Amino acid sequence: MQKTEILSITNMTLTELEALCVSMGEPAYRAEQMLSWIYEKRATSFDQMSNLSKDFRRRCAEKYHVFQTRVDSITETADGTEKFLIHLFDENVIESVLLREGKRITVCISTQVGCAMGCRFCASGLLGLQRNLTTGEIVEQVLHVRNHLPTDERLTNIVFMGIGEPLMNYDNVVKAIRILNAAWGLGIGIRNITISTVGIIDGIRRLAQEGLQVNLAISLHASDDVTRTKIVPSNTKTGIRNVIAAAQEYFKVTHRDISFEYVLIDGVNTSKRDAETLALLLKGIQCNINILPVNPVEEFNWKTPSEETIDMFCNTLERHGLIVTRRKKKGDDIHAACGQLRLQRHKNNLHQENNASREPSPDRA
Ligand code: SF4
Repeated sequence: MQKTEILSITNMTLTELEALCVSMGEPAYRAEQMLSWIYEKRATSFDQMSNLSKDFRRRCAEKYHVFQTRVDSITETADGTEKFLIHLFDENVIESVLLREGKRITVCISTQVGCAMGCRFCASGLLGLQRNLTTGEIVEQVLHVRNHLPTDERLTNIVFMGIGEPLMNYDNVVKAIRILNAAWGLGIGIRNITISTVGIIDGIRRLAQEGLQVNLAISLHASDDVTRTKIVPSNTKTGIRNVIAAAQEYFKVTHRDISFEYVLIDGVNTSKRDAETLALLLKGIQCNINILPVNPVEEFNWKTPSEETIDMFCNTLERHGLIVTRRKKKGDDIHAACGQLRLQRHKNNLHQENNASREPSPDRA
């Protein structure tokens, strides 16, 4: 049976919800009351909205949901990383990750079910793209994580670095950012929101014109086209120099610093020459480079480089005047690399299905 999408309040902006309230014979200010229940008071059902009439709550519940997703499981690692597997209306699952670094509490969220980009170090691309997430499905990931935090802890940052390429789901992502940033929404500062992209050039240009000052992180992972195409196949359509030029344009319009992400894969993009070429490529660009050792994924044969190699790579970049942030692999023991938990769930399901199909049927027994 085809599952139909659930209409949830988390898909709506204040203006849209005001129009809905008026169309249901209620004053427009009911919309702000409802949003305050969801974004401030952590309500997850209309029943909790005690300043709305029972009749209005009943009529809302007949047609709409507050949330259209639910948390399937939460897994925690020794370093405090928590991975949320989120169940969608069509039985798909996505991942969101809660990361703690001092006072900084970040949620990393997904934007698509699967991904078409097929980066060769990422579990998300292995199952291909199923569909884009709705605005509500994006917003709810942040709400599930925030609602899980004790009330004295504040979610400080949002990064669009989970499953999917955010700029391939442009409209829903931008609408979700406006809701998460709005004073009537979650009120997360726009400068604390980061979009990570493999370098969708049209999307970067469009984003620069939105009047939003979100941070942009570009997944570079190589310093020449041959190596980058091996790691990020979509590079064949863009080319590394065009991606960097689009990032520079973004900086010119928004004045937001650019981050370049670089996953170190032993023997593939880790030589001194790679570091020097990268330094030349980024010379004069106001940016910082995030260096991260690759998270091994069973399906790919990549290896994590040694500490000495990572040191050499970072030191070479720094000697050329670049700002380098060395990131640690977080949450390895719960498959925290992008898409790994979802992939593991998919494999488990296949395993169960195979076992079930191997069991003798009652009439053969
Ligand atoms: S790294 Fe990002 S863009 Fe690349 S396949 Fe994974 S989810 Fe998609």
